[in-house]
Amino acid sequence: MKIIPYGRQSIDQEDINAINEVLVSDYLTQGPLVEKFESDFAAYIGCKHAVAVSNGTAALHLSALALGVQKGDRVITSPITFSASANCVEYCGGEIDFCDIDPQTYLIDLDKLATMIESKPKGYYKGIIPVDFCGLSVDLERISNIARQHNLWIIEDACHAPGAKFQDTSGNWHMAGDGHYSDCSIFSFHPVKHIACGEGGMVTTNNDEIAERIRLLRTHGISKDPKQLDKHDGGWYYQMLELGYNYRLTDFQSALGVTQLKKLDSSLEKRNEIARIYDSSFKGLGFKKQFIPENYFHAYHLYVIEVPQRKALYDHLRLHGIYAQVHYIPVHTMPYYSAKGWKEGDAPNAEKYYTQCLSIPMFPTLDREDQAFIIDRIKSFYA
Ligand SMILES: *Cc1c(COP(=O)(O)O)cnc(C)c1O
Repeated sequence: MKIIPYGRQSIDQEDINAINEVLVSDYLTQGPLVEKFESDFAAYIGCKHAVAVSNGTAALHLSALALGVQKGDRVITSPITFSASANCVEYCGGEIDFCDIDPQTYLIDLDKLATMIESKPKGYYKGIIPVDFCGLSVDLERISNIARQHNLWIIEDACHAPGAKFQDTSGNWHMAGDGHYSDCSIFSFHPVKHIACGEGGMVTTNNDEIAERIRLLRTHGISKDPKQLDKHDGGWYYQMLELGYNYRLTDFQSALGVTQLKKLDSSLEKRNEIARIYDSSFKGLGFKKQFIPENYFHAYHLYVIEVPQRKALYDHLRLHGIYAQVHYIPVHTMPYYSAKGWKEGDAPNAEKYYTQCLSIPMFPTLDREDQAFIIDRIKSFYA
């Protein structure tokens, strides 16, 4: 039986050739291809710096460190995300707080976010990690207004949203990660995401200090730059300035990143085309879907429907080789977070959404025939 997953990478001959070239070159890990991937990515997104790291989680961890998260710091994120968006704060000894989602957009509820921050004394919260869930940008202009009033930083988790755009109230379009309204943004190159490097991540920012700090921390906190060292014994000399990590991306992964990035625009078009076909095919079936405000360009990492009898539909699709998925089990209900006092009822919109959401296949190489089969199986289940 043919299996249709909810997401899948597409690797072509150009990608394979690019990796093969690196494998026989002088560099396997951090070499010229890392820099090329970084500069191509920064040019695409329209930001000053892009710093490549080993995965999206490392990008979150280093961003939190670069913004100074330490023991006791409180940071807010959405419960409808991958746990890494929250965990990065815990890695640094901080505490994550969850703000419920808006039931229409599935993104962090900005009225609730403002109320939550205003209900505490100034300085209680240090930062916000909003998530461009499914590939829909959060309204960073409004989040940054809230953040500025209360002196909070913003890390945009844009793992779902390379190429997503929104128009601000002055009429300017902003690409997710362009750093106009956030301190930094992070991306993942896990194979289910738009750009596949096997594993991989990126931090984008317009802030020189953040970029420099992340470059240092991704490689053990070690510097060879004489300007950063307090002495210099010779050509071999380096100093470990801070407690860093090995979060480097390899050169062959970066080679893949470079060729995959070239195909991002065409893959976004395909994803939007697939979404339009789903939209029109499900008209009249009464499924609830993510509300997309005007002046937003969606990157469609995921296509989610909210349906009755979700579990039975999931099982039915599975029998036909259609491997739908659930994104996400609300993070605050995970045992790790329950043990810290979070409980059912703390984010009712997220919890209700979780009972009926289903991500159906969405990837650029999903062909018309397979999509028609998926639509037919879903329709026949409810007939
Ligand atoms: C995938 C993902 C991450 C983590 O990325 P990895 O590369 O798997 O570490 C973080 N946040 C969100 C929203 C993601 O989808």
